[in-house]
Amino acid sequence: MLLELIAIALIVVHFGVPVSYYWYLRKKWLNKPWNLREDPEYRPKVTIIIPTYREAKYIIRKLDNIYQQDYPRDRLEVIVVDSASDDGTPELVKKWAKMHSNIRVILLQEPIRRGMVPALNYALKHVSKDSDIIIFTDADAFWEVDTIKKVTKYFADTSVGAVTTCIAPLNGEKHIEAIYRSYYNVVRIGESKIHSTPVHNGALVAFRKKLLNRIGNLPTYTGNDDSTPASLIAFMGYRAIQINDTIVKEPIRKDQVSRKIRRAQHLVLHFIYTKNYARKCGIYKRTLFNRIWYIELFLHIMNPWLLLIALATLIVSILMGNLISALILALGIIVTCFKQFRVWLVTQLYLMIAIVKNLWNREIMWER
Ligand code: GDP
Ligand code: MN
Repeated sequence: MLLELIAIALIVVHFGVPVSYYWYLRKKWLNKPWNLREDPEYRPKVTIIIPTYREAKYIIRKLDNIYQQDYPRDRLEVIVVDSASDDGTPELVKKWAKMHSNIRVILLQEPIRRGMVPALNYALKHVSKDSDIIIFTDADAFWEVDTIKKVTKYFADTSVGAVTTCIAPLNGEKHIEAIYRSYYNVVRIGESKIHSTPVHNGALVAFRKKLLNRIGNLPTYTGNDDSTPASLIAFMGYRAIQINDTIVKEPIRKDQVSRKIRRAQHLVLHFIYTKNYARKCGIYKRTLFNRIWYIELFLHIMNPWLLLIALATLIVSILMGNLISALILALGIIVTCFKQFRVWLVTQLYLMIAIVKNLWNREIMWER
């Protein structure tokens, strides 16, 4: 009797918190105005930094995609920072730059691979002095033609420090990834309307340069270049938002599972260390972002385990001959007919694997 009550309580909390958070954000915040002074005519100088390791397959398409941007080319600068790729990536960049001399392209070549974040820290040293906005973007992330404009217009408001976009899979709208995205986009945008979201997307994340400079180098305790610097900026009191008027597409890959686990690992490390790091740097300010931070910390680090404990409790209870527990478990199995529910379960599993895997390998430098 006690066991099944514990299991029910855990299940209620596990699903109740994210579901109520989702509905709260959706009903109360999603459609609210930004409360920002946006300016579609604002044209700051933008530096786009692309880290590359073995990107021969995508790099030309990526550079073309930037070249096609509806944004004054003399207000753009592109830095490709390559970490000793052996597949011809830097040669392709050199060739492309020669053929497109009306856009400033800088190729930086690291002699050895140390990982994406160290490469970006190296690239940050080469950003032009007069640049206002820095965008980090993956080589395999493809933008719409007006994406830079859509992003920069928010920076016209001086309270905005970081901007990321919605992302969608390039191939396969019906893919499990699309369902995952439609849920999280609501949450991220809702949080952004309140103040800031602690989870940004490496497919495109833009920063006000002078705030990035105040952090100094990107911290290396986690392998991400998006959520961590964006949250540090949010902890400073600036807005770090996900916008909803442009979508960036990235391909789903064959190694999607290990990729999702690695991304989860970086997020877990982010939630464990970033707030203390902000305190240590002396940039931490108490704002509404703090509350969002704690909810997401709970959802990423604690909540997955409640489900696992509930499952274990149910199984023990069933073994002790409790029929109600068997009924609850049967119900849980039936609900897996719903794709949304399966996506949720898989995400929880990834997070738990990520937490455990971080104990021996933080995936700062991942296989590609
Ligand atoms: P995912 O999108 O999370 O799966 O991550 P990717 O494997 O696509 O990596 C993100 C970006 O960082 C891509 O443009 C990679 O080429 C790049 N990248 C990954 N590792 C390194 C590295 O060690 N050095 C550099 N310079 N770039 C890297
Ligand atoms: Mn990528």
